[in-house]
Amino acid sequence: MDLKLNYIGGKWVEAESGEKREVINPATGEVLAYTTESGESDTLKAISAAKKSFYETREWRDTDGQTRADVMLKIADLMDRSREELARLDTLDNGKPLRESEGDIDDAIHCFRYYAGLITAPSGHTYEVNAGFGPMHSYTISEPVGVVGQITPWNYPLLMSAWKLAPAIAAGNSIVFKPSSNCPLSTIRLFEIFDEVGMPEGSVNIVLGSGGSVGHTIAASKDVDMVTFTGSTKVGQSIMADAVGNLKKIGLELGGKSPNIVFDDCDIDGAVEWAMIGTFFNQGQVCSACARIYVQEGIHKEFVEKLVKKASAMTIGNGLNNPDIGPVVSESQMKKVLGYIEKGKEEGAELLCGGKRYTEGECEKGFFIMPTVFDNCSQDMTIVKEEIFGPVCAVVPFKTEEEAVKMANDTEYGLAGAVFTKDGAKALRVMKEIRAGIMWINCCQPTFNQAPWGGYKMSGIGRELSVNGIEEYREIKQVNIALDTGAIGWYEN
Ligand code: NAP
Repeated sequence: MDLKLNYIGGKWVEAESGEKREVINPATGEVLAYTTESGESDTLKAISAAKKSFYETREWRDTDGQTRADVMLKIADLMDRSREELARLDTLDNGKPLRESEGDIDDAIHCFRYYAGLITAPSGHTYEVNAGFGPMHSYTISEPVGVVGQITPWNYPLLMSAWKLAPAIAAGNSIVFKPSSNCPLSTIRLFEIFDEVGMPEGSVNIVLGSGGSVGHTIAASKDVDMVTFTGSTKVGQSIMADAVGNLKKIGLELGGKSPNIVFDDCDIDGAVEWAMIGTFFNQGQVCSACARIYVQEGIHKEFVEKLVKKASAMTIGNGLNNPDIGPVVSESQMKKVLGYIEKGKEEGAELLCGGKRYTEGECEKGFFIMPTVFDNCSQDMTIVKEEIFGPVCAVVPFKTEEEAVKMANDTEYGLAGAVFTKDGAKALRVMKEIRAGIMWINCCQPTFNQAPWGGYKMSGIGRELSVNGIEEYREIKQVNIALDTGAIGWYEN
C-alpha cells in the first residue's frame, strides 16, 4: 500500500525515523494508506527550507502579484480537474457523505480563486499629514509575514487546508504545513498539485506526523514568524504558550458550543430543518454546530416532535453511498461521543432518539453513531456545557427573550449562534446581544469565502476568509514622505 511522504524543499522525502502510521477508513475500520511518521528533525528541515525560500532565494516572495494570481488560478483549475478524486479521498478518510465532500471541494477551489482575485485588488491607504515638520504623505504597503506554520484538524480536511493555504500563499509567504494525522490524504494530493504547477522550491512544505511532535516544533520554532491553527481550544492554548518564545503572530480558530434560539413566532418547519443542519451536518463534527437548542415553551412540544421524527428517519451508512449521515472520524472520537451520551443520561437529560452506536449491515465495523436528541436539558449539564463534536443535540426550553440570551451567553466559547423568529427587530436585538463571531438569522451554518470567520472568547483569535483572512498573513508597513526636501530649521545652530 502507498506510503505518503513529506514534501520538503521541493522533494518528496521519507521521515528520518523510517516509521509509518496507518490512515483508517472510519466506515470500515480498514487501513486506507500509510503516512511517514515525522518528528522534530524532519520538521526543522521543513522550517529551514521555508526560511531559505523566504529570506534567501525569495522567488515566491518576489513574484509579482499578477503572476502569483495566475499560479493560484492554475492550482484551482487542477483541483477542479481532480474534483471527484479529492471528494472521494475526503469521504474515505473522514467518513462524510460524498455530496458533502463535493461541496467542500467546490468551496476549497473557490477559496483559491477568491484569493487569486484579491492579490491584484488595491491594498494600502494614503494619508495627508503634518506633525509640525511640514506637509507629508504617509502611506501603507503590505508585505508577507515570512515563514508561516499552519496546523489543521480533521473535520473538513481539504477545506480547512484551503482556508489557510490560499490566503497565506497569495500574500507571498513560505509555508510549513501540518495536516491532521487522522485525515491527511486530500491535503497531500493538494501538495502534489503545488508541485505540478511549479511552486518555487521550499515555498510550500508539508510534514506528516503527530501534533505533539511536528505541531509543537512548528509552534515553538523561533524561525517561524507566524503560526495559524484550527483545532481544539486546549491545543490552541498550548500553541499560544509555544509561540511566546519569539512572539510570533498567531491565528487561532478553536472550538465552540454554539446556541440556537428558536422563538414561538418562527416558521417551525424551517427552524427544524436548519436545526438538523446545525446539529447533524458532517456528523455534528462542526466547530460552529448549534447543538444547544433553546426552544420557547409555546412551540417546544411541536418543535421537538418534528425534530425527533426527522432525526430518526435519517439514513446511516458508508459516505460513498451518500447517506444522510456517515461514521464519525475515528474509534476514539466515537468512544468520546458515546461517553457524552452516557453522561447526558446520568445527569437526567431526556433521551428522545438515538443514543447509541449503529452497527446494522454495512456499518458493522465502522464508527457510526445514531442521530441523538436530548430534551429538557439544563445549563448545568455536561452535554450543554462542553463541545461534543458528534451527532448529538441538547434541547433546553425557555420562557422569555432575556432568559434565552442569558443562557446562550453562559459559555466560555463564542464562535457562532442562530436565531429563529419572524420578528425582525427581535432577531437583530438578540443577534447583537450574543457574544459570538458568526450569527445566523433564520438559517444555520452557511459559510462564504467572502465573509470573515472566527470566534470571540475561547473560540479563537483573528479571522479567516474574506479580506480579513489575507490581511492576517500580511505585515503593514507605514511609509512617510516629506513633501519639502529642504532643511526644516528645528535645530537653529
Ligand atoms: P485537535 O486535537 O486540537 O488537533 C488539531 C491539530 O492540532 C491536529 O493537526 C493535531 O495533530 C494538532 N496538534 C495536536 N496536539 C498539538 C500540539 N501540542 N501542538 C501543535 N499541534 C497539535 O483538534 P481536532 O480533534 O483535530 O479537531 C476538532 C477541533 O477543532 C474541535 O474543537 C473544533 O471545534 C475545532 N475546529 C475549529 C474550527 C474553527 O474554525 N473555529 C474549524 C474546525 C474545527 P494530530 O492530528 O497529529 O493529533
